[in-house]
Formats: sequence, structure tokens, C-alpha cells
Amino acid sequence: MKYENFDVEGYCNAVTTAQIERALEKRGRLDEREYLALLSPAASAYLERMAARARDVTKAQFGCAMLLFTPLYVSNVCDNACPYCSFARQHDVRRLHLDLCDVRREAERIASSGIRHVLVLTGESRRVATVQYICDCASVLREYFSSIAIEVYPLTEGEYARVVSAGADGLTIYQETYDRGVYAKLHNGGPKEDFAFRLSAPERAARAGIRSVTVGPLLGLAPPVRDVFLAGLHAAHLRSEFPSLEVSASFPRLRPLSGEFAPDFAVSDSDFVQYMTAFRLFMPSAGITVSTRESSSFRNSILPLGPTKLSAGGNTSVGAATGAATEPQFEIADGRSADEMREDLLSRGFQPVMVDWNHTLCR
Ligand code: SF4
Repeated sequence: MKYENFDVEGYCNAVTTAQIERALEKRGRLDEREYLALLSPAASAYLERMAARARDVTKAQFGCAMLLFTPLYVSNVCDNACPYCSFARQHDVRRLHLDLCDVRREAERIASSGIRHVLVLTGESRRVATVQYICDCASVLREYFSSIAIEVYPLTEGEYARVVSAGADGLTIYQETYDRGVYAKLHNGGPKEDFAFRLSAPERAARAGIRSVTVGPLLGLAPPVRDVFLAGLHAAHLRSEFPSLEVSASFPRLRPLSGEFAPDFAVSDSDFVQYMTAFRLFMPSAGITVSTRESSSFRNSILPLGPTKLSAGGNTSVGAATGAATEPQFEIADGRSADEMREDLLSRGFQPVMVDWNHTLCR
């Protein structure tokens, strides 16, 4: 990975105000070092100007459109031991793996809100949430949704092709951290320890015909500037290798969970805004997803500064429609329903978008 061994902290500490000014005034594409200058601690003094530029760029690229989607957890069985996640195999939580009747019930519940984009999530267990199961879920969900994205363990190219044939068109996969040393410590034991296989998953999915990918780190696990920088380069690499691929990034912050894990790195609201706006200026036409890990007031406040997709009306438990939901993966901070989200967006001058892709028109 380009820049993987680059001294990000050293570079950031030496960034000058002239470099930041140049990056902010540039109207063409920012290069990698200009992006990094905007991520540097010194650029935090330019937050208002970064926000104003990001607002202009976002409006020029996306207008006032804001895509809404709902996450649907179908299984919390996991073979990994990520210490920051309550689905990790070492936790004594109730495990639930929905059968296809319950997947259908969940689909009916979510579709009744008017949302037509769904993100289907599983814990990472090939034994339980098999590739065939993911395909079967996609086949059921395509009866209700115009776009189905998956957030599951990394697949091979052939497996992605099967899932695409079954109806999935989007992939979300977080690298968690782009720092190989931290990654190895956090993912010691279990299939997730293969850093490279995870990193290359979006490329395999793109070759297999997926329409859109979302990548990013989980902020709080490793030095965040480095993670946001390398995630941006990852997104830029995908864009340049696969020009027709819709590329998005997301920068979720760790949320409280059952367990003892405390993040090593704090990311304040203003840090988050700096990272998101820097990424927006680096990749003007990329999507940016902001999930319900962020509070409603914070999400409302950053709406004009870069986001293009918001999750709504979801939770992080398995089996809400069964009446016996599991413990959540993490506590969400924005519990607005799809209707409430739609109303809030309209009242702020945004256009809530329920459908921007329909697989039935493209096959
Ligand atoms: S983060 Fe994903 S892979 Fe890790 S324990 Fe949680 S569900 Fe499993």
C-alpha cells in the first residue's frame, strides 16, 4: 500500500500554514500530501475555512440529495475475537442467526418505512453465515429493496460474483485500522487476522461486478490521522483502478459496547469534522456515509459539510421483527425513525432520497 511506511506524524508535525493555505486555495485535485496537510493538527485552526470549502464542493457535486438506507443485522455469530466488538466470539451473548422467513419479516418491516436501500450485516462466520446464506438473503431482500449492500467477511472474487448474481450491488467493508501493527494485535486469532485479504476485498468485489463500495477505518483503534489518510488513499486507488465503481468512505467512531474495551485514541467532534472535510476536498465526488454511531444533533450539524448517505431506522441487534432481539453490537446514538429522518432533512433544506438505484431496471 502506497504511503504505508510514510512518517505521517512527522510530516504532519512539520506542515506549515503556507501548505495548508495552498491546499485550501487549490481548485484542482489535491495530491496526497495536500490532503495530509489538511489532516494535520495545524489545519485544525482552519476548520471554518475547510468546512466552507467542503460545503461548496459537496453542494456542487451532490446538490441537496441525501440517500437514506437501513442496516439489517441477520446474524451475530462470529469466529473472530475483536476486543472492541460485543459480537466477538469470547463474549457470552445470545447468538441469533435469522432464517429466511425472519429475514423476510425484517424486510417487510424496513420496507414499510419507505426505505429502498438496505445494508445487510452478519458477524464474520463462514461456517454459519455461509456464502449460500448471504446469496439467499439477497434473493429475499431484492423482492423488497432496489439496492442491497452487504457488510460481511471478505469473500473471494468468485464468491462476490455469486452474491452479485443473487442481487447484491454494494459492499461495505471496514479495514478497522490501516496500521498493520495495531491490526495484528487486535485481530490475533480467527480468519480476520489476514490484513491483506481484507484490504484487497473491495478490488475483488469490483472485478466481480459490484456497483458500489464503501471503505474506511474504525476511528479510535489507531492514530486517527494516519487511518483517515490511508483510508482516503485506499478510496482514491479504487476510484482510479475502477472508474465506473461508486466509491464511498465512512469514518465511524468507536461507540460504547458490552465489555471492557476502551479506545486508545480519542476523536473529538471537531477532529471528525476536520477529517471528513479534508476527505471531501481530496475526493470531491466520493460518497461519505455517516452512521447512527453519531448523535442526531451532530449529524444534523454536519449535513452540509460532506455526507451523502445516512443510515436511518436501524438498530444493531439481530431479530427486531422476531420480538426477541439480541443484545446490540454497539449502542446507536441516533435513534430517529426513517420518517423522522425524512422530516428533519426536509426541514433543513435537504432532499431525502429513498431510491437512487434500481436493479430491476439494469438487468
Ligand atoms: S467486528 Fe466484526 S469480525 Fe470483529 S467480532 Fe465484531 S462482528 Fe466479528
